[in-house]
Amino acid sequence: MPLPLIHLNDLPPGGRNYSGELRTDIFELSGKFDPKFTPPFKFDLAVRVDDGDIIVQGWAETVFEMQCSRCTQQLPWRVRLDPYFTCEERDGAATLDLTAQLREDTLLALPGYPRCEESNVAPRPCSRDGGFAPESEYVPLDGEETVDPGQRDAWGALDNLPSADPKPKS
Ligand SMILES: [Zn+2]
Repeated sequence: MPLPLIHLNDLPPGGRNYSGELRTDIFELSGKFDPKFTPPFKFDLAVRVDDGDIIVQGWAETVFEMQCSRCTQQLPWRVRLDPYFTCEERDGAATLDLTAQLREDTLLALPGYPRCEESNVAPRPCSRDGGFAPESEYVPLDGEETVDPGQRDAWGALDNLPSADPKPKS
């Protein structure tokens, strides 16, 4: 158990504080493209039972290595849940597993399509930006340069030219 399992019956009336830095990977994401946990997982949380509810209050922070959705390079992404606050019905529970709760809430805060330049740790220009069409592709092709915008009806004008008659038979 990376985070302490909290025995709710043992909590003092005012609750108890839990804080620290974990190096254990509580996220356990093993897929090739999954975000990778970068230790430590930092947290500072107060837990108390109040009138049948379990209240968790404080903050938690983790940094992940994620894959840029455009260039697929790894980029760092920080999830900071601050303020972190949950209030759930105790419903007779004797223990509270903060691990499961924090794991889920942290993962939900990750972006679906992160990009290099949006990293909240170390933003950088995405390498894909340099891969887009170079300016030369926007230079008009030969012939297009001579088209006058005022002659949009050029095709219609061609119809009136004898040399453009599509039905000459010789
Ligand atoms: Zn990128």
